[in-house]
Amino acid sequence: MEYDVAVIGAGPAGASAARNAALKGLSVVVIEKQAVPRMKPCAGLISNKALQELDFDLPEELTAQKIKGVKLVDRDFHGFTEKTSRVIGRTVKRSEFDAYLTEKAREAGAEVKDSTRLINFREENQRILLDTSQGQIKARFLVGADGVYSRTAKISGIRKKWKRWDLGFTLYTDLPLEEPVESIDPEVAELHCVSYPFSLGWLFHHESYLNIGIGTSKLVDKKSIKVFHQWLDRLCQQKNIPLGEYKTQGYYLPAGGFKRTITGGRVYLVGDAAGFVDSFSGEGIYFALKSGRFIAEEIARGMEQNRIEQIGLRYTNKCYQDFLKEFRLSLAVAIFLGKKVVPFQFVRYNPFLVHSIVNIMENTGGYGTMLKEIGLKFPQMVTRVAQGKFGAQKL
Ligand SMILES: Cc1cc2nc3c(=O)[nH]c(=O)nc-3n(C[C@H](O)[C@H](O)[C@H](O)COP(=O)(O)OP(=O)(O)OC[C@H]3O[C@@H](n4cnc5c(N)ncnc54)[C@H](O)[C@@H]3O)c2cc1C
Repeated sequence: MEYDVAVIGAGPAGASAARNAALKGLSVVVIEKQAVPRMKPCAGLISNKALQELDFDLPEELTAQKIKGVKLVDRDFHGFTEKTSRVIGRTVKRSEFDAYLTEKAREAGAEVKDSTRLINFREENQRILLDTSQGQIKARFLVGADGVYSRTAKISGIRKKWKRWDLGFTLYTDLPLEEPVESIDPEVAELHCVSYPFSLGWLFHHESYLNIGIGTSKLVDKKSIKVFHQWLDRLCQQKNIPLGEYKTQGYYLPAGGFKRTITGGRVYLVGDAAGFVDSFSGEGIYFALKSGRFIAEEIARGMEQNRIEQIGLRYTNKCYQDFLKEFRLSLAVAIFLGKKVVPFQFVRYNPFLVHSIVNIMENTGGYGTMLKEIGLKFPQMVTRVAQGKFGAQKL
């Protein structure tokens, strides 16, 4: 059988591309190397803007914790919380969330072959011939949704290797919760300024554990393990969280903010494979879902109009018009907030920063507004920091 579209990877990007393409009447096969449900290292916070990208509701039982607010904390553990009456995101177990998305792709008509690894492919007579661990597959178009280490990107030659500044680095641990911790509001996602370049810490509440980690850049990944352990020790002391033996996990993820080639011939990259991750927050699921939908729309349009050669260009334009500006601004914020001592102190005296993050999670504002406000309020911010230092009333 020859498929219209073969999708490599059953993460959010692959599941979204597959579902949207199948809903448009295309024949689709998804090839996933692991057995579904599969484990995915992640902090598991799904913002409302990501949930709004879905054309179905997420079942309640997949939510570990409803998130209604954000707390931005400086390196001295002074923070500012904005809590709303709305649900602005949810924490989920990625294995369950991704398996549900894959099931929705299957329900729309996509065939899912899990425990099947893409080994190689070549383009021949306007067809892609794929060699997988379970035999050969033929398709007219190939969507590489195979994550940060995308084999599709390598084989196609779209990207042989990431450059050092293209990658972020994350370290995290899951701390089991035997009883509620008084100093933590489960409905509030905490973001911490960590005193290390490009770094941001997080603490997200799941049903029976806390996911605590830091995101930084590959440029400075060498010392980051020490930084993480020291920060985690201080955090747990501050919050009275018992810290016994814990397991630290480290993973790379792409950093958005750079314009990269994401297509080649009949091959298109989506999600992490394309480098679509917000550098400040580390959010990637929203962009994975959206780029998956975009490629499905463009393949269907190209086939309908018999303008196959336009698919790659239209897809690239659509993604970069939608994400690039925000990615660049978020990179600027990551550099500004995640660097040295003075900007950290802005956090506790300037509630608008945390308000901007709530807006970003709900898609009612972006990094542009945040940076504009920083620019406008800069003199006032500096005054507040100075007053704070000399004992004036703190917010
Ligand atoms: C520690 C950490 C925490 C994060 N926290 C968050 C968060 O809280 N919120 C958020 O929005 N984002 C978060 N992210 C980012 C988010 O996880 C990714 O952006 C998102 O998973 C990208 O989805 P994807 O579908 O592109 O890739 P993936 O989810 O990585 O899926 C790729 C799939 O391709 C499969 N695959 C790979 N190679 C092959 C092959 N050769 N053949 C067949 N299949 C293959 C893999 O098995 C995998 O299932 C985090 C990332 C990390 C590392």
